[in-house]
Amino acid sequence: MKEFGFELRLCAWAERNWPPLDESDGVSLVARQLGTKHRRWDTVVIETTDTGLTDRAPFDTERLDSDLLHVARNAPSSWTYYRDALPDPGYPWRYVREAVHRASDRGFLDTRRVGNRIEIRRRYRYPDWVDRIIAIENKPDLDAAAARVLAEQLEHDIALGLADEVWLATSATDAGIEPALLEAMPVEVGVLAVSDLHRGATVEPIWNPRTLGVTDPGTRILDRPTGGSTDRSAARFEYADPDWKRRKRLEIAERAYERGWRSYAETMRTDCRGFELRDPTGPFPWCALKSREQTAAECSARCREFEPEPPGWRAREWPIEGGPGKAAKRLLERKRARRR
Ligand code: SF4
Repeated sequence: MKEFGFELRLCAWAERNWPPLDESDGVSLVARQLGTKHRRWDTVVIETTDTGLTDRAPFDTERLDSDLLHVARNAPSSWTYYRDALPDPGYPWRYVREAVHRASDRGFLDTRRVGNRIEIRRRYRYPDWVDRIIAIENKPDLDAAAARVLAEQLEHDIALGLADEVWLATSATDAGIEPALLEAMPVEVGVLAVSDLHRGATVEPIWNPRTLGVTDPGTRILDRPTGGSTDRSAARFEYADPDWKRRKRLEIAERAYERGWRSYAETMRTDCRGFELRDPTGPFPWCALKSREQTAAECSARCREFEPEPPGWRAREWPIEGGPGKAAKRLLERKRARRR
């Protein structure tokens, strides 16, 4: 199975079973392909609680971007001039003013004009809804070359400490997982062995991760020497302060809240006659024209086998309900909303 199918099944498993190491009564939101400008994780799990999600709900299903978060987290409970209420953002105030108006349109902030001044008052307190953030890197076929590249990426994650835990998920094989491959991994990284992908996924933790210091300063490794006999260069680092990390973690959690892991349908050709959703545990995409699972990358405008949905499929409920492609998108959106 390709990495895309592996990733979707791991997401579905994590949604039902996270955390794997204890019986917590928390809730997990799972998303794909999130991170920072420099690093994108395959799977991200946000650990939260029912109360956390209930308190987050008044802020709408769309994410709060960094400007909106600045307003939401600092808005006062009583009418105050916005420049007195909000900390200096470190960028021009006109962007804050725009964010204030957007927050008002989104319904979580009241605004009023007093003379030339805009005063603000919060309608809801932005909750502390994110307990932990887990990053999982998926590598179903872990060979020596892949292990080397991956180990280096994971070392960056450990040094930065943006996620509370970092895991590697790889396929379990009959021969087990080659210990030499796992030896290459940093000891702080947990390892999940994944099997039975065709029946959902069975996942077993075979190495427990260390909890990283997310409130401590982190280090971004910008460049490291190759280590050859002629390489005398020094590694280059950049400091990541705890405030930056706190902001980034919240932005990642907000994006995960908005997108979930089923948002793959937004980029795939659900309007193709071959597009189907299969398997109630997902559902996962299936291409009836190729008789196999397709990846998000191939199910795009460039696919040569694309055939538009016949107009007859749409006629019955068109244009209110749309054809099967629209129905597939609605099904995924309903599942995503239920999760939130
Ligand atoms: S034929 Fe191409 S566009 Fe159509 S569902 Fe299959 S992969 Fe997607």
